Amino acid sequence: MSMNTQGRPTGIGASGFASTSGSALLPNEPLLFEIGDVEHSGVDLPDVDIDSSRLGGFARQTPLDLAGLTEPEAMRHYVRLSRLNHSIDSGMYPLGSCTMKHNPRLNEKMARLPGFGDIHPLQPVSTVQGALELMQQLAHWLMTLTNTTAVCLTPKAGAHGELCGMMAIQAAQRARGQGHRTVVLVPESAHGTNPATAAFLGYTVRSIAARADGTVDVEAVKAALGPDVAAIMLTNPNTCGLFEPQVIEIAAAVHKAGAFFYCDGANFNAIMGVVRPGDLGIDAMHINLHKTFSTPHGGGGPGAGPVVLSATLAPFAPVPFVRKAHAGLELVEHSEGENLGRITAFQGQMGMYVRALTYMLSHGGDGLAQAAKDAVLNANYIKARLQGAFSAPFGDQPCMHEALFDDHFLEGTGVTTLDFAKALIDEGFHPMTMYFPLVVHGAMLIEPTESEPKQTLDRFCDVMLDLAADAKAGNVTRFTAAPMKAPRRRLDETRAARSPKLTWERELVVSQAAE
Ligand SMILES: *Cc1c(COP(=O)(O)O)cnc(C)c1O
Repeated sequence: MSMNTQGRPTGIGASGFASTSGSALLPNEPLLFEIGDVEHSGVDLPDVDIDSSRLGGFARQTPLDLAGLTEPEAMRHYVRLSRLNHSIDSGMYPLGSCTMKHNPRLNEKMARLPGFGDIHPLQPVSTVQGALELMQQLAHWLMTLTNTTAVCLTPKAGAHGELCGMMAIQAAQRARGQGHRTVVLVPESAHGTNPATAAFLGYTVRSIAARADGTVDVEAVKAALGPDVAAIMLTNPNTCGLFEPQVIEIAAAVHKAGAFFYCDGANFNAIMGVVRPGDLGIDAMHINLHKTFSTPHGGGGPGAGPVVLSATLAPFAPVPFVRKAHAGLELVEHSEGENLGRITAFQGQMGMYVRALTYMLSHGGDGLAQAAKDAVLNANYIKARLQGAFSAPFGDQPCMHEALFDDHFLEGTGVTTLDFAKALIDEGFHPMTMYFPLVVHGAMLIEPTESEPKQTLDRFCDVMLDLAADAKAGNVTRFTAAPMKAPRRRLDETRAARSPKLTWERELVVSQAAE
């Protein structure tokens, strides 16, 4: 098979495509440059007889090198590419920690309303009063659901929200003359963004070991606290899918030591409408709108990570924010007093605000609580069904919104967690999260969310049980050779991430064509 410059098989044969995906209906997709070519245009344009260009020195000196394709060719290319991807719209996506829930089409419809979809961030505020009101309502819902005093809507991801919340904590410590506090406590089970955020702000990370049951011990926190500690970053429910039973005691100990409690709220979907984190003593917490309140995500965006803040941190909330004024709502864009200034350009992800508020209003407060409870119920159903055949690191205790297993049950089979996950692809499921959290050996983290019906959960569990039985029966190749039915087999993911080839190189294709 010939390879193109990107190391992918090139299209060959009469149809122009080599069908190597295992399905004639899912041909291998060539690059746009291999379908069309740079010498032709996809549309018929009349010849022009203009001999002098008015572009002067701005005229392009080198060819643009864009492949000319007809509209159907371009359309088919992108539709075919989209079919190579698994999505929540095509099947269950049990990726733990990521909360791949159904994205209601109503949200999309609302986000596309011209009054939201077509506005510009630099429009005069008198012309976008509805959009400002939506932002204010969203802020109100977030503060009410969390029982907090302020919210900064603008961060564009969970990780960005962490940065924003921790900057507020840093500013508050400095304002108190406590700028010498340079340590942040982070439990071992934390998402990688937590220590990364702390380190990015110049803090030293002090790790807190997990207890044998997967939760954080208040005594371990007390032992790590001291006059050098600025904050703790604690996820609740934590990344093992467990509600931290001592969270209130931990908050009290942290405050007593003069530190702040940053809560990673990415798992808020498990407790929204049921528990208000403000009641647990948190000072700052980001909420992943794209996880908890739906919105397609996973392909790099868009995300939105608003941060709620306690009364102590409220004065440091960044701009812009919406405020009532004489003539309606105003957008406060300039720093007043102690606030941090801006953390993003403009006003953040407006489309996500619309989707999140639509999700909230269409569920209502009671509906959000029901969604959280259903997410927890679904995860416990999976845990209960798989428990006998799989190994649960923290025993039989119920979980929150995700079920965690380790690779103990695969011992001696020659099958790894990675192999197991790859075999799941051949059965039509996106793999669960693997090897995270790090505190569990060969972790498999399964998050069904509230969206999946019982039939789908049962089919998933049947497949999982069948795979576990097969691994134990010694049918190793079903795993080590997997995926066999996917458009691509095993990829060198590290190389793809470390040295991606993102540009098409004309010369190489030409030289290959000459071979
Ligand atoms: C997803 C997640 C994050 C990061 O959120 P992004 O929007 O991906 O930046 C942080 N912590 C936890 C526990 C998460 O699950």
